[in-house]
Amino acid sequence: MPDTPTTTTGEPAAGGQPAPDRTTTGATIELEGLTKRYPGSGTAAVDNVSMEIAAGEIVILVGPSGCGKSTTLRMINRLIEPTSGRITINGEDVTRMDPVRLRRKVGYAIQSSGLFPHMTVAQNIALVPRMVGWSKSRTKERVAEMLDLVGLDPGEFRGRYPRQLSGGQQQRVGVARALAADPPVLLMDEPFGAVDPITRDHLQDELIRLQHELHKTIVFVTHDFDEAIKLGDRIAVLREQSHIAQFDTPEAILTHPADDFVSGFVGAGAALKRLNLTRVRDVGITDYPTVSLDDPLQHIFDRLRSEKTNELLLLDRKRRPYKWLRRGDLTLAKGSLARAGTLVHDTVTRDATLRDALEAVLTDNAGRVAVTGRRGEYEGVVDMETLMNSVHELLEEDRLDALENQHELAESRRSRTELAQEGGFGEGSS
Ligand code: ADP
Repeated sequence: MPDTPTTTTGEPAAGGQPAPDRTTTGATIELEGLTKRYPGSGTAAVDNVSMEIAAGEIVILVGPSGCGKSTTLRMINRLIEPTSGRITINGEDVTRMDPVRLRRKVGYAIQSSGLFPHMTVAQNIALVPRMVGWSKSRTKERVAEMLDLVGLDPGEFRGRYPRQLSGGQQQRVGVARALAADPPVLLMDEPFGAVDPITRDHLQDELIRLQHELHKTIVFVTHDFDEAIKLGDRIAVLREQSHIAQFDTPEAILTHPADDFVSGFVGAGAALKRLNLTRVRDVGITDYPTVSLDDPLQHIFDRLRSEKTNELLLLDRKRRPYKWLRRGDLTLAKGSLARAGTLVHDTVTRDATLRDALEAVLTDNAGRVAVTGRRGEYEGVVDMETLMNSVHELLEEDRLDALENQHELAESRRSRTELAQEGGFGEGSS
């Protein structure tokens, strides 16, 4: 799709359409026979890599340190020039693109945010918009919009310097800067590598939320396989020289690793890792007896006496889970529900991972968690038994897969031996 005609500065040309307000969505990226040989180095850092990345997907490049992930990534925005091969974005060869246009097409975020310390947050975010010639007012608006997008209050953060921010906030600003000129492609090089695990978890969740809104094409480098599983639509597991060991969905890689290198990388506990991939919507949620704050007290008492479970879920006036009421709570109630029952402290949505649900259930005394809809309204309950059954199923699948793999391995060894023997006879008889 051709861009709006631009002047040399990138500002819409006279008569051209002003830049649209709606967000630019992703572009396809194609790597063809991409190779990088650093001067003075005998072997190529990246050797003949080909890969197609669809518009709007998050592809994770994962592999051991030094395997060539960063080099591959940095060739996409030409921070490193390829020795040979081709990279196209939406069919356009990036080596033929002028650098300003390329900056506009490809956002880039790195570990430790890479913010310029002598510039304010606003100046950092404004870098690419200014470079491509946006007006001051449009840039200012965009800075505020980007800060909002990454969950930072523009009034509070715009004028700060990077050293006045926490690591997580710096990283957010780094993402805001990468997205500022609304590029269809976002490259991220271990962007969350330098923050603590809890902040990292939050930043990952934020990125997933952002991507739901923005649909960019994101190429993300990490050495952390768990991060890859959590974020990737597809994962490219790379071995040395960026050779692709497997390029597939997280699910496929976890359940059918291509070879020993990939299994080694997936590591132990593939079944448990799959808890991150399975959603509450994929397991049965059950109905639970509920009453409402609007129900007459007598009705609630009667229900509590008649229910087999000994327990009811009390919903507030917006049908949101409010309290768990037990039969024993009746005696304490003394005509009012104000002090009766236990407040519902945690709920999950159908989109929550089984891991989140399991965490919620494990911290609940009675081993269950209420499932809610978009507005927090009650939809059902997931209990420990359902979750444990899912975990058992996953473990069982893994066990069967492992047996199958062993069987296949034994078969292929046997046929290799047979072939070698036949070969030996052949040679001997000729
Ligand atoms: P990764 O991101 O997977 O850790 P890199 O792409 O950074 O790997 O590096 C791949 C290989 O290229 C490594 O062997 C590294 O030492 C080498 N390398 C990286 N940058 C340079 C450079 N500027 N000059 C020479 N060799 C480099």
